[in-house]
Amino acid sequence: MAQHAILSASSASRWMSCPPSARLEQNYENKTSGYAAEGTLAHELGELGLMHNLGEISTRKYNSEVKKVESNELFTKDMPDYVEIYVDTCMEKVSEAKAKTPDALFKIEQRLDFSRWVPEGFGTGDFVIIADGTMEICDLKYGKGVPVSAVGNKQMRLYALGAISEFEFLYDIEKVKMTIIQPRLDSISTDEISVEELLKWADEFVKPTAELAFKGEGEFCAGDHCGFCRAKAVCKARADKNMELAKYDFQEPDILSSIDIADILGRADELIKWAKDVQDWALAQALNGEEFPGWKVVEGRSNRKWTDENKVGEILLGQGFLENIIYTKKLTGISNMETALGKKEVNRLLGDYIVKPQGKPVLVVESDKREVFNSAKTDFE
Ligand code: SF4
Repeated sequence: MAQHAILSASSASRWMSCPPSARLEQNYENKTSGYAAEGTLAHELGELGLMHNLGEISTRKYNSEVKKVESNELFTKDMPDYVEIYVDTCMEKVSEAKAKTPDALFKIEQRLDFSRWVPEGFGTGDFVIIADGTMEICDLKYGKGVPVSAVGNKQMRLYALGAISEFEFLYDIEKVKMTIIQPRLDSISTDEISVEELLKWADEFVKPTAELAFKGEGEFCAGDHCGFCRAKAVCKARADKNMELAKYDFQEPDILSSIDIADILGRADELIKWAKDVQDWALAQALNGEEFPGWKVVEGRSNRKWTDENKVGEILLGQGFLENIIYTKKLTGISNMETALGKKEVNRLLGDYIVKPQGKPVLVVESDKREVFNSAKTDFE
């Protein structure tokens, strides 16, 4: 995996919208999560699957390398099922490419250098295919956060630029396809752009914006992209935008109209996120000794717990209490069961015993893709 660049592809949507964030962020700690390490392991498995399918490694080598992955503490039984979706998707594209031309090129974990437009910019393309004037880039995202669309995706476009830089001298590439595969979210998204249009975007927008961002210049601009910014809790531009959002001109009479409430709902999400970021940040700083006038850190609520569960059980059984009173037995949840047994195995053995109940009603914006809640179907009050 790549070391961290100031203008990384994964944070492109942020620094392209708010160029000075790239340098401002440098002052704040980068907390990488265990999820990133899990993703790296899934990528390793995907790489092995592709190499094996493409005949780049023998079955023996593949099996021994997979064993190493399986011995990693982050490996879970459902990982191969999910990674298989990625490998199968790539292999379908391989078949299509081979059908187009026998000269198709396949590159796994290709380093992509897009520094022609972005200072020090590089990344890794999980799988790159070049066939008959079309270049295709596939990106595995193993997280199970939110579906990411490939349409207009800046990270994928930067990878595409890196791949064009790398291969343009050898191949005549006219069109780029970019696919994001998120197997745990059941999401595969593709976008397509002509090389001409991509280069125009790169020269006219990316290059000048990246130059500003690299120098820490340009206009601060708050928006959805603030969510992953390390400065999000202390950034003045974000605070200003939210304080502006919080201002509301109430009209007569004394009761809010449905139009007022709809307007407030539209602002609430962003305000809640921002307030939570500020609270979390302030607590972490206060624990480090920083003082906020009028505030102090205290112990939160806590629940009593047994110090030695075995001993407690022993005492109660000794006193003649029945086991079913002392112990509760609960079946592991479906997701955890899949992690432990594998997705396919859970489906094979228990598929008939899984239902998906109707979800609780939530209020969302009208543009949301989900169907309108059907209260006739439900037990909810
Ligand atoms: S929080 Fe938002 S506005 Fe502030 S620097 Fe980061 S991206 Fe820019």
